[in-house]
Amino acid sequence: MSTDNTTQPESFGENSRRALTNPLLQRALTIATVKATSARSVAVTHVGPANWEQLRDRAHAIKKHTIENLDFYLEKFAGNVERLGGKVYWAQTADDACKYVAELAQRRGVQEIVKSKSMMSEEIGLNHALEDAGIKPIETDLGEYIVQLANERPSHINMPAIHKTRSDVADLFAEKLGVERTEEIAEMTALARRVLRARFAEAQMGVTGVNYAIADTGTIVLVENEGNIRLTTSLPRIHVAIMGIEKVIPNLQDLDVFLLLLSRSASGQKMCSYVSLLTGARSSQDEEGPDEFHVVLVDNGRVEMLSDKQLRESLYCIRCGACLNVCPVYRKIGGHAYGWVYPGPIGAVLTPQMIGLDRATSLPFASSLCGACGDVCPVKIKLPDMLLHLRQRINDNGHIKTKARKRDRLERLSFKFWAMAMKTSRRYRYVACFGRLVQALIRKRNANGSVSLRVPQWSDTRDFPPLARRSFREQWRDRSH
Ligand code: SF4
Repeated sequence: MSTDNTTQPESFGENSRRALTNPLLQRALTIATVKATSARSVAVTHVGPANWEQLRDRAHAIKKHTIENLDFYLEKFAGNVERLGGKVYWAQTADDACKYVAELAQRRGVQEIVKSKSMMSEEIGLNHALEDAGIKPIETDLGEYIVQLANERPSHINMPAIHKTRSDVADLFAEKLGVERTEEIAEMTALARRVLRARFAEAQMGVTGVNYAIADTGTIVLVENEGNIRLTTSLPRIHVAIMGIEKVIPNLQDLDVFLLLLSRSASGQKMCSYVSLLTGARSSQDEEGPDEFHVVLVDNGRVEMLSDKQLRESLYCIRCGACLNVCPVYRKIGGHAYGWVYPGPIGAVLTPQMIGLDRATSLPFASSLCGACGDVCPVKIKLPDMLLHLRQRINDNGHIKTKARKRDRLERLSFKFWAMAMKTSRRYRYVACFGRLVQALIRKRNANGSVSLRVPQWSDTRDFPPLARRSFREQWRDRSH
């Protein structure tokens, strides 16, 4: 399935229309998101809805407290990392962070870096920066490895290759790895493992993200299912962990809460297969681990987000991806349509803050405001409220384009008309009667024989069902006589 790696948030409308006419993408998205959402629901039932709500409240409270005292906890975390022999670098921008990693690699004579899945690395564009510096980054998470081979971006926060079918991956491996084509998942996985194991054995530097950073102990926590993170952090002699400054939490007791929520929200698992707690570089008593341990603390606009009371909660995100899986918009268009690193409802809130409201004016409108994202968020981020707030800002700042303004006016007019029509049952009957007469002019027959209405833009990619020939009241009256 071909996807575009060059999409931008500015062309969201066009990106979405293209995605909507891609049946393979639609199928892949439906299968993966429905599966993840159902698994999550079952996992919540096992915990018990009341306990689950308590956990969410607790997580929200921990995040609120930490974010409001972020300077204190960051200093504490950084102090503990350095006390245990690690090196901390404070990166104000994405460029600062990339430069630090690339220069460190150059100073140590490193030519190849193994990487684990990290949204922060995507956010700062680390792979491009490393390649520009003559260093080869190798993704070791299977999904990330697939999108790297395809020269694409991940299209989901924790399922990077969700847009690819088995057949796509078979084609890709045959083309890029020069092997015989197979669609057997076990064979494809074994092949990727063989290729990557060899890279692990030779790499001198490993780069990872961070799921949580414990201020009390200077520990970083990494969760995964494949085991590649363990290899990335233990085989190379240098480990660099890159994290957004919002990833810090006060202590190990708080970690319990997030571990109970994260994997259940992400994939419905009770717990991810591997949870690694790494504290400092290898000491003389340790049998394994890196000689050098670096933590890059990335701001990249987060301090500004912190000062914004209306949107500050977006820093509570633990990147579980649950809001993407339930979002009716994401489920139809996938992640690439959003045009930047973070897709779905959280992406629609983060992207305008990170790259500028003027570059992402369509994203906060990419929501039906059904509220499903807020309902599933394990840290109770009020995503629908934030989307509404951003819409207001876009409107107030005059960022809405003329075409969108016209559409907006038309929408308002339609709703006014609808409100008038719904005021009394008599009006409603007249309007419905009129609608039945008019719809005859715009009826069309679909390929499967069903009938729907031709409505500009709407019916290009979905059905607009016609009004029933007789209203429910009329049918009921007939049955009663
Ligand atoms: S906003 Fe909430 S649901 Fe969405 S990825 Fe972040 S933590 Fe998960």
